[in-house]
Amino acid sequence: METSQILKEGDEEPPSQLLEWSCSDNGVVTLKKETIFNRFWPDATSKQWNDWRWQMANRLRSLQALSSLLNLKPYQVSAFKKLLEVFHYSATPYYLSLIDWSDPEDPIRKQAIPDLQEASFEVVGDIDPLEEEEDMPVPNLVHRYPNRVLAIVTNTCAMYCRHCTRKRIWHEGESASSRKDLEAMVAYVRSTPKVREVVISGGDPLTSNMDNLDWFLGELGKISHVDVLRIGTRVPVVLPMRITDDLTKMLASHRPLWLNTQFNHPREITPEAQEACDKIIRAGIPVSNQSVLLKGINDSVEIMKELNHSLQKIMVRPYYLFQCDPVRGVEHFRTSIWKGIEIIEMFRGYTGGLSIPTFVVDAPGGGGKIPLQPFYLLSATDKEVLLRNYEGMIVKYYNPQENGASKPKKTNGNGKSGGKAALFKENAKIVIPQNTPRFARRRKKNLQRCLDTHNQQAFPFWKDN
Ligand code: SF4
Repeated sequence: METSQILKEGDEEPPSQLLEWSCSDNGVVTLKKETIFNRFWPDATSKQWNDWRWQMANRLRSLQALSSLLNLKPYQVSAFKKLLEVFHYSATPYYLSLIDWSDPEDPIRKQAIPDLQEASFEVVGDIDPLEEEEDMPVPNLVHRYPNRVLAIVTNTCAMYCRHCTRKRIWHEGESASSRKDLEAMVAYVRSTPKVREVVISGGDPLTSNMDNLDWFLGELGKISHVDVLRIGTRVPVVLPMRITDDLTKMLASHRPLWLNTQFNHPREITPEAQEACDKIIRAGIPVSNQSVLLKGINDSVEIMKELNHSLQKIMVRPYYLFQCDPVRGVEHFRTSIWKGIEIIEMFRGYTGGLSIPTFVVDAPGGGGKIPLQPFYLLSATDKEVLLRNYEGMIVKYYNPQENGASKPKKTNGNGKSGGKAALFKENAKIVIPQNTPRFARRRKKNLQRCLDTHNQQAFPFWKDN
């Protein structure tokens, strides 16, 4: 069955339309729209659509489907064929339904649909830049940080995110760790008392066999020095119907359990995704988010603000914002480090701390996560530091000394200079930029009188206009 209709200006367009156009001899352009549902799953019922098994079974994964989706020309088909031999693809009908097919730059599309730019794997990036394979005491268990380990329990994901750090394992196909492999991981954790936290990752652990996952979580939970378990999954984003009551009941039986997911764009926060997160949270499992900073997808302050505010509204805590790793086949998603710092700079102070993730670079060579933020510490002596706030206010902060708190030295300023130097030379504590909204509000609240009194004593260089 194929349905198509002529798009007229002002038409309300359903989501997920695939657009085709034709041009008549007299130059009239006709746009046809067809929904992705009609093209690929014309007979699907809503019951099937909401069943995660149906979603998994009906993922688009073939070259033929990709060719149909992108209207590929024959020469493009061969280029994609070569690409898919290295980096396969698979996406759930649900996630594909979020794409605006009329926009080649659509942020959902970019995460799900292969792009020939990934073929730069031949020249740029590393297979395993984080050197996870080097830190595996037993197969698929990464022990990098002193007191926590990461278990890669499956290669399978509901969707293969084009920016994935573990693209290197995709060629192994869709498989999960055997019970024997899981037992080896449990044995290592049991014999390593310093491990207090186990992160269960993949692939996506929530695509794996539930009995195995239940067993694995249970065995880890029995180890006395393991305090906390954590699951990393993108299922709430790409396959939210997988979060069933049975699954949350099983997960709840392994608390204290934390769950980290990966929303990268506000349009991923659909009612379905919200309901999935809500079910997990109601089961007593806190949900946090680890976004990846991706060029053309979320590398803007506005999008990041909308994303993190929306996450906070659905009770999902923004946790990390990752610099995209220098993985082979991912270079076109990578942004400058300064972009991440700029985003954090525009968050801190302007919005509440609970909606601000920590920006981190995962250091190549297995160095682990390095947090980065704007420069708030400007300079320091043993006794005092100069700090900058989000508005540009500079403050001298007395640093308590080991043998008791240091006392500020009384110095005589000349009353004329300003800026950072004044803080060290003069008996001043703060340099305050003028005309900020915050001070406008303070003035409104009639605090100016207090400030003026304070400034005359402490800020001889203060000018109020
Ligand atoms: S769900 Fe995670 S592991 Fe799977 S492809 Fe996406 S980023 Fe990679």
